[in-house]
Amino acid sequence: MKADLKGMSARETENWAVGLGLEAYRGRQVRHWMLGRLAASFDEMTNLPKSLRALLTEKANISHLKQVKVQSSKDGTRKYLFKLHDGHFIETVLIPERDHFTLCISSQAGCAMNCRFCLTATQGLDRDLKTPEIIEQIIQVKRAMDDPDRLTNIVFMGMGEPLANYDAVVKAIENLVSEDGLNFSHRKVTLSTCGLVPQLRKLGKDVTVNLAISLNAADDETRSFLMPVNRKYPLKTLLSALRDFPLPNRRMITFEYILIKDVNDRDKDALKLAALLADLRAKINLIPLNPHPGSNMSPPSQKNILQFQEILLKNNFTAIIRKSKGADISAACGQLSGELKSPPTPL
Ligand code: SAH
Repeated sequence: MKADLKGMSARETENWAVGLGLEAYRGRQVRHWMLGRLAASFDEMTNLPKSLRALLTEKANISHLKQVKVQSSKDGTRKYLFKLHDGHFIETVLIPERDHFTLCISSQAGCAMNCRFCLTATQGLDRDLKTPEIIEQIIQVKRAMDDPDRLTNIVFMGMGEPLANYDAVVKAIENLVSEDGLNFSHRKVTLSTCGLVPQLRKLGKDVTVNLAISLNAADDETRSFLMPVNRKYPLKTLLSALRDFPLPNRRMITFEYILIKDVNDRDKDALKLAALLADLRAKINLIPLNPHPGSNMSPPSQKNILQFQEILLKNNFTAIIRKSKGADISAACGQLSGELKSPPTPL
């Protein structure tokens, strides 16, 4: 089988080149073309001798995802549907911010965590993504942008639970933040997790990355109802791992809290949340629930949302209300399904 160069570290590409009888720096050169200069084929690597390009084409492969569909929202959000080589689908969402773009990427096709509020959960897990499939989401979107440098932020908040696909995700992050790789600042890469504690403990040692925790409740009963993972790793266990998490200076952990009417939106829930996070460097993102067909839950009224936020602010937390973008194209939080519901639009 041909080697897939896209997910390799600098060292691995060097070793690979040496294995072919080439000088080590050729490996780094090829990696830089793929990740730094977004080359989709060896032919685009114009400073490599033609004979070398022919050898590379014979011995190696630059894998791609098939772009099946791109949808644009009224608010400028773009949702990409990609087809994997074995027929599964994933979605990637490009979100315009005031002065930059954020890309929300998937780590698995489907998800096994079964959170009650999330549409991805209803399809179950198809499979883990490989490192090249994770990185390729970014490369393809950048290639389609007028100014790829404006994509500065990456969030692992698309389909899947990143820590359930630990090795591939960590390797992707390493490629993302390495200077001769995709060269993102590690301050601008965020991994969001439902809280797989053993992997969380390992993550802090393996890479530097921003952490977001999908919390959604401040007591075990409510959290286990919303997120089955809480039965395995209840709040006490999760919070203890977070206290131990090695945070760089002044960095905070983001806690995501979906507000759901009559489930977790009362004043006493806000007070419980404030007490739970009191000794952590925490900022809180409140996300009014995005309802989806098949779920009987709804978001609270605007008044209740503001009241919930107010309690957190009074307790000295940074608490923002995150407005989900792209709801009109089902690209908002918890709405990714990776299924082809309508015929693909020609690109
Ligand atoms: N598995 C990871 C990443 C995917 S979920 C995790 O659990 O963090 C990404 C974000 O979407 C999470 O913060 C989750 O709480 C949010 N989300 C999921 N379903 C949602 C819904 N129906 N409405 C609003 N946010 C939702």
